Amino acid sequence: MSKMPSLFIGHGTPMNTLHHNEYTEAWRQLGQKLPRPRALLVVSAHWCLGESAVTAMAAPRTIHDFYGFPKELFDFDYPAKGDPALAQQVSELAKPISVSLDHEQWGLDHGAWSVLAHMYPNADIPVVQLSIHAQETLDYHLELAAKLAPLRDEGVMILGSGNVVHNLRAMQRQAAGQGYDWAERFDEAVVQQMTTAPGDFVNVLRHPDYANAVPSPDHLIPLIYVAGVAAAEDSQLEVLTRGCTMGAISMTSFGLGAQSYL
Ligand code: ZN
Repeated sequence: MSKMPSLFIGHGTPMNTLHHNEYTEAWRQLGQKLPRPRALLVVSAHWCLGESAVTAMAAPRTIHDFYGFPKELFDFDYPAKGDPALAQQVSELAKPISVSLDHEQWGLDHGAWSVLAHMYPNADIPVVQLSIHAQETLDYHLELAAKLAPLRDEGVMILGSGNVVHNLRAMQRQAAGQGYDWAERFDEAVVQQMTTAPGDFVNVLRHPDYANAVPSPDHLIPLIYVAGVAAAEDSQLEVLTRGCTMGAISMTSFGLGAQSYL
């Protein structure tokens, strides 16, 4: 079996679940054209903990982890099954890094389902989520990613969901399709780094626009996981979608072994 592609998707606003735009169309195309995974391992920006954990329930609930959005979004359900055996395997592969099995706390958050609603609208592929250990270092995330990379040989799609640029305080809802100069600069720097040397992710953290683009790292860390997989295999990431919106949100997405299918 050839390696399953791995993706980082810039997910943007939760409303993308219901919207149709150039980005959601790209997600739909990816779901249709990439080889069908047997399961998805999703690293979402929206599950940050004081530990690494993996959802291990057979039927993860749909979590509506936001407020101030229309009822239609709170009514949205993504009834994909979990994959307890995969969760167990993730925990084993990670050793000696500790990844605990979560049987009841989490489920699927909108970092996962806002994208999967378009990629796999039938919710017929099992989904497991991996939390972000919020107190850990860049090297920890790269190392954990490298340990999980062999899952690509077993039909598992490793999917990071976040945003390269994510500054909610600077965001302007009216500025659709545009980014501030610093947002565009940082996005470009990340594209350059990921498409040349993803293992040197630390360069991104030293960029002069990092503080504006990444006021907190939760939305960038899912990219570290996909970069870590690429680095472990000594390959570069491909740019799948590109662009900033609302001034301070990047919708740029990356693929590993995905572009040849599009
Ligand atoms: Zn988000």
